[in-house]
Amino acid sequence: MHSSALRGVGMTSARTRERMVATVRDCGIHEKRVLNALRAIPRHLIVEEALAHRAYENRPLSIGYGQTISQPFIVALMSQAAMEIEPKSVLEIGTGSGYQAAVLSMLVDSVYSVERIEPLERRTRALFAELGVENVRQKLDDGHEGWEEHAPYDAIVVTAAAASVPQALKEQLRDGGRMVIPVAGSSISQDLLVVDRRGRRWHTRHVADVVFVPMREGVQA
Ligand code: SAH
Repeated sequence: MHSSALRGVGMTSARTRERMVATVRDCGIHEKRVLNALRAIPRHLIVEEALAHRAYENRPLSIGYGQTISQPFIVALMSQAAMEIEPKSVLEIGTGSGYQAAVLSMLVDSVYSVERIEPLERRTRALFAELGVENVRQKLDDGHEGWEEHAPYDAIVVTAAAASVPQALKEQLRDGGRMVIPVAGSSISQDLLVVDRRGRRWHTRHVADVVFVPMREGVQA
């Protein structure tokens, strides 16, 4: 996202946004570029209008269709984990509201984002045009298959909970690349995993317990 696109965005929200950034920092996020992106992205324009007044709380919010925009801290945690390998291209699975993709758009050259719910994909396309986000490419598809066309990716960020790490995503990760993905854990939470690829080995470590909506199969009109 180019900073010019953000000019004129309601200054009234600058202070509440700053407070959100401080909360996220207090939760342990130290990567300056990530904090700057959170500071810059107008989350109140991304969540549903009726929830705009709650946009800068450190909470997940409904985005319709039974889906949620993640809590800012989790978006920051996943972005920070991805940034540790200095990626240039990122594949995101689960565009949703577009917030995570907008954050990533400020951190890397190219973002590719796949969403399976058509109205969400369409809404986000319009939103990015409006916000001047130009380096996010979108696709309506089942993210279990990744997005072969632009592979391999330096990083892959999955924002819905998978039953296990999808094989297609492992293959589309560049050698030396990193995937951040919530995978089914207990009945109440999932394991947020960092998966680092070294050749034909994928080294996995647990970073946090998280709660995401499940990854579903197929495309929904
Ligand atoms: N990154 C989003 C999070 C949205 S919630 C944001 O910042 O708002 C998770 C999203 O993943 C939902 O929009 C849901 O429809 C989508 N999703 C679930 N299963 C999917 C799949 N198999 N392929 C692509 N998207 C999927």
